[in-house]
Amino acid sequence: MKSHRSIILKIHELLETKKISCVELIKKYLDEIKKNKFNAYITVTENEALNSAALVDKKISSGQEIKLLEGIPVSLKDVISTKGIRTTCGSRMLENYVPIYNATCWEILKNNGAILLGKNNQDEFAMGASNETSFFGPVKNPYDITKVPGGSTGGGAASVVGGLAAFSIGTDTGGSLRQPASFCGIVGLKPSYGSVSRYGIIPMASSFDQAGPLTLTVKDASIVYDAISKFDEKDSSSNSQARNLTYDSLDKDISGIRIGIPKEFMNGMNSEIISSIKNVIKTYENLGAKIDYFSLPEVKYAMSIYYVLMCAEASSNLGRFDGIRYGFRPKNYNNVEDLIIRSRSEGFGDEVKRRILLGTYILSSSYTNNFYKKAQELREFLTCAFASVFEEFDIILLPTTPTTAFGFDYAEDDPIKMYLADVCTVTANEIKIPAISIPCGFDKQNLPIGVQLFAPRFREDILLNAAYKYESENFCVKIVDGVNNLY
Ligand code: GLN
Repeated sequence: MKSHRSIILKIHELLETKKISCVELIKKYLDEIKKNKFNAYITVTENEALNSAALVDKKISSGQEIKLLEGIPVSLKDVISTKGIRTTCGSRMLENYVPIYNATCWEILKNNGAILLGKNNQDEFAMGASNETSFFGPVKNPYDITKVPGGSTGGGAASVVGGLAAFSIGTDTGGSLRQPASFCGIVGLKPSYGSVSRYGIIPMASSFDQAGPLTLTVKDASIVYDAISKFDEKDSSSNSQARNLTYDSLDKDISGIRIGIPKEFMNGMNSEIISSIKNVIKTYENLGAKIDYFSLPEVKYAMSIYYVLMCAEASSNLGRFDGIRYGFRPKNYNNVEDLIIRSRSEGFGDEVKRRILLGTYILSSSYTNNFYKKAQELREFLTCAFASVFEEFDIILLPTTPTTAFGFDYAEDDPIKMYLADVCTVTANEIKIPAISIPCGFDKQNLPIGVQLFAPRFREDILLNAAYKYESENFCVKIVDGVNNLY
């Protein structure tokens, strides 16, 4: 593992050199998944996985070359449509929904030969930061099963660090890849808005949502990002320009790189996190980076912008679930109106209902100027403010989360407390830039801490280069369970 710093490369080598057969490999993962220690999967695709693995083995034994991702076991967040495989969004509303087409990001991985192990548990419709809103029950953090794995891609993060998949694909609307990555001590990359197709990803807030990888290492994140970041004419927000691919520039010298630290995010955080972030800064200084602090008071609006616009977009997106076309439908109802009311009342959980109510209120005609329009203007303002910051800096460095993984029921009576888990992450979604969380240490309870990097939009190459250089100096991923530690 160490010499490769990539489980994808390691598995590829083991398969090519016939040290393990693909069927054997997939069986190992499936056996671990069946133990169901963390509740990380909603659906396990055992037969499909074993059939695909047999085809890979056939190819290898006939002397054909295999692609890099061929035979690599992956799990997908359950908002990602998979043809013929149920896709629940962690909700009762879609408990039995089976899509008739694949999301583009999965189609690409499938065409590259990646093997689907199953669909991961997640917060309902990707709303949450602890995976506790799932209809299918909470996910446990493999580091410490009394703690949450973060959310909303909690099952994906648990499956990577818990050795239940070599990597996973999730989505990030306000932090849902980076926050669970940080809580579980792995790498979470949210690409620029427009780089990975949203086609077939059941939307939460369409102008924020972006799919990306959860991986053990930066090299793995780079391999997966380079594969899935492609123009897609089926997604009107997909960027049609050529991508800045990342793999070839991972190891570039970063001396002279300008790194900015926003002072606003160094206050009010847990002190162990801040001291860990200060160590990261020292490491970058040793690598020759030029570090400077800056202040951007406008970031104080980031949370308000997010919760206004996200709720507005989510309420509109979730309007399609009416119990008529597809999704949950109660057995008894009196008329069409009653059918819609009961389907939505019984099909959605409390957090989803809360956001639909807030979003509907925000979009109601007498309030849109006060809330929706104002938040849009502030989003634009923040985007411009950051554009100026990026004239001075190549990378922005900040904590990923204000705390390490917390216990279950941490925000039982106070949803705002849970919303604050996103305070460091939402800005990147608002201004559509790429952001990554990488492990940088542990707190006194031995829980992982993550550091977050931002780069200008569509500069994933700079972002992953900086992340890789740090990781090379301080590799602190611990594989706590399952199959990934075989290597
Ligand atoms: N935790 C955030 C929320 O609940 C982010 C969700 C996400 O990125 N999908 O909105």
